[in-house]
Amino acid sequence: MNMTEHHPISAPDFMPVNELRATQLSRLQRTVQQAYDHVPLFHRRLDERGLKPADVRSLEDVRRLPFTVKADLRDTYPYGLFAAPMKEIVRLHASSGTTGKPIVVAYTQDDIRVWTETIMRSLVSCGLHAGDIVQNAYGYGLFTGGLGAHYGAEALGATVIPISGGNTERQLMVMKDFGVTAICCTPSYFLHLIDQSQQMGVDLKKLPLRAGVFGAEPWTENMRERIEAQSNIKAYDIYGLTEIIGPGVGIECAHQAGLHIFEDHFLAEIIDPETLEPLPIGSEGELVLTTLSKQAMPMIRYRTRDITAFYTEPCACGRSIRRIRRIGRRSDDMLIIRGINVFPSQIEAGLLRIEGTLPHYQIVLTREKDLDQMEVQVEVTPEVFSDEVRGLEELRKKIVRSIETITGIRVALRLVEPHTIQRSEGKAKRVIDKRNM
Ligand code: ADP
Ligand code: ZN
Repeated sequence: MNMTEHHPISAPDFMPVNELRATQLSRLQRTVQQAYDHVPLFHRRLDERGLKPADVRSLEDVRRLPFTVKADLRDTYPYGLFAAPMKEIVRLHASSGTTGKPIVVAYTQDDIRVWTETIMRSLVSCGLHAGDIVQNAYGYGLFTGGLGAHYGAEALGATVIPISGGNTERQLMVMKDFGVTAICCTPSYFLHLIDQSQQMGVDLKKLPLRAGVFGAEPWTENMRERIEAQSNIKAYDIYGLTEIIGPGVGIECAHQAGLHIFEDHFLAEIIDPETLEPLPIGSEGELVLTTLSKQAMPMIRYRTRDITAFYTEPCACGRSIRRIRRIGRRSDDMLIIRGINVFPSQIEAGLLRIEGTLPHYQIVLTREKDLDQMEVQVEVTPEVFSDEVRGLEELRKKIVRSIETITGIRVALRLVEPHTIQRSEGKAKRVIDKRNM
């Protein structure tokens, strides 16, 4: 065993399995009771099934509970799923909803403590410790990435540089001048940093940087190889989602062979996304997560839409918490653009607010210099199209603003003549993804 695995904060990662399952069960029972007592939607759903919280007697009984889906957060927007009174809630975050409004999540003081703990355990798993200088290039603000990683890294005793996303030149200057040893950002952004460093004549291999904590979007072994070869760091995959807590639901260890899930706080199942039936261990399916410690907003059987599978073998690192395969795709149409979630339905909602556009649009995704580019092509009415150029340009700007209000990202937008976007029989093909990872 190496030094990092003796860090006391990581003790729960190594809990004997029977102890782990017992912890999970008692926490599950408490969570179900709390949700039943304080969340009307969950109370109603249990009643409809003729279930009481006391019917959860074993971990397998979780299968009898109703699923929670993103639409439930939309329908109860903003505070309808909170299980704690507002005076106990110390933080709100938000992520993309499927249409005009975001989804909102809440944390009590204790939830923040748990989140901080899972981030600390994540960073320890990547070999970080007090004394590391961490450049946190995840976005600060309503996103969970920035603040989530921030508090965990501080609590570990690392020096945090809260630089947030963007401004590549400044990122590289800080990395070099401040003696940064670890960076948190999306993997595609780090590839972009590598590219820019070469143009600026900065040799990342000569810097003290030794680890990257990369997540918030799918990436590949191929990307990992490029990152590690070109910067001489170890690149670790971190997974999480706003509905459950934010980043820090799972992370790789030194063996970089799948992501350990912090099972003492999150109960994981894999289901068939079509039949919704649980799948045998090792089969690929949709990850379903139940929070075991959250107070402000417990989530019962949340359908993540992320496709993965459990590893069946224990990991060589000795952690007893199970591992999942890296997440490569989803069972819905959510896109992740530079780490930001975007639903085609949000683009549509942005369009529908503007007169003169037709509900025919297409989203084209490319990756240039390792950064995602998104172009939206929109058909306009014949009257609009025959208008003068200035009118078209104004309309274009209006649509860009409208989409930005909803998604938070500024898209490249092209207005096209009526009938130029291919019509398909049945479901329209809205997204053309040309990104090659
Ligand atoms: P985050 O800040 O982690 O992106 P969001 O709630 O905005 O949190 O998005 C969560 C979604 O992002 C996940 O359901 C998953 O689809 C994707 N995601 C997060 N981390 C990873 C990862 N390491 N690999 C693949 N996809 C990821
Ligand atoms: Zn491991």
